[in-house]
Amino acid sequence: MSINKHNTHILHNFKYFTPSNIQEACKLLSELPEDTKILAGGTDLIPKMKESVLRPSNIINIKQITGLTNIEEKNNRITIGALTKIRDIEKNSIIYDKANILHQATRVIGSVQIRNLATIGGNLCNASPAADSAAALIALNADTKIVGLRKERIVNLEKFFKGPSKSILEKDEILTHIQFQIPNNNNFSYYRKIGRVSLDLATVSLAVQAEVIHGKILKLSMVAGSVAPIPIRLVSCEESLLDKKLNNDLIQEIAVKASKEIKPITDARGSASYRKNAIKGLTKEAFNILLEKTETEK
Ligand SMILES: Cc1cc2nc3c(=O)[nH]c(=O)nc-3n(C[C@H](O)[C@H](O)[C@H](O)COP(=O)(O)OP(=O)(O)OC[C@H]3O[C@@H](n4cnc5c(N)ncnc54)[C@H](O)[C@@H]3O)c2cc1C
Repeated sequence: MSINKHNTHILHNFKYFTPSNIQEACKLLSELPEDTKILAGGTDLIPKMKESVLRPSNIINIKQITGLTNIEEKNNRITIGALTKIRDIEKNSIIYDKANILHQATRVIGSVQIRNLATIGGNLCNASPAADSAAALIALNADTKIVGLRKERIVNLEKFFKGPSKSILEKDEILTHIQFQIPNNNNFSYYRKIGRVSLDLATVSLAVQAEVIHGKILKLSMVAGSVAPIPIRLVSCEESLLDKKLNNDLIQEIAVKASKEIKPITDARGSASYRKNAIKGLTKEAFNILLEKTETEK
């Protein structure tokens, strides 16, 4: 009896490396061919290899590198190691209390089984415009720490993505940490995604991080996912809301503006016009929640 190996087996040969520190991993990346892949949680890479979408000749498993699985709070900043599991972020009390938008985003990634394997670094390095943590972390104005063979650099996450599956990482570079300042106490956060089924990637997502004092929006970032080649900030919506107090008319206006600001395509997950309507709905929901919150606090 023959076994149907489609989607159950990796059908090509590859070399496998398990470096024990970052410098060793960067050296391997610099020496091995361009198609070499880093393996973190493997939840994206392994299915693609099983389906022969990717056939890397070399795999570098980075999970034995220490110091990359921590969530640390220091000097009003939170630092997360790239190998931290999505499930550990979702359940972490510092994240829940001080960066709740990231809790909201991580709890809707795939299933518990996926979140137990998947890493935050993998979620970002995939460079999917639908990556849930990406929108939330851009809304938090997060920075990435990138280490290469000869240099280290800090790059704001908004500048990390170049297009679907394309990041700014150079051949010898590894994402090691994500860092952001803790939002102050008067903050409001919202993350929602709409997908076809609960285990699906986002058809549309919206992250809103705001600082609100006496009903006035003093700081705001709005980030939409799955509506352009990379997660995008809705800058003109942000500008229209800064220093304003919310009301129903303003919410309607911003929702229309959000649908005009995005540049979605039609694909298997949804049509461009569906996405334009959906972002309107998410924008109204986010700011209606904020309006209700500010009115009950009066
Ligand atoms: C059933 C299913 C459901 C899913 N649902 C969602 C979802 O709802 N939302 C969502 O956002 N994603 C979802 N995903 C996608 C995937 O699980 C996540 O993106 C996950 O976080 C990837 O992390 P990983 O550690 O498994 O990455 P891996 O598969 O190990 O790696 C992904 C890519 O990033 C590179 N990479 C990983 N870490 C680093 C690093 N530190 N430095 C440089 N390059 C690196 C790898 O080489 C590879 O190209 C789903 C996947 C599956 C199979």
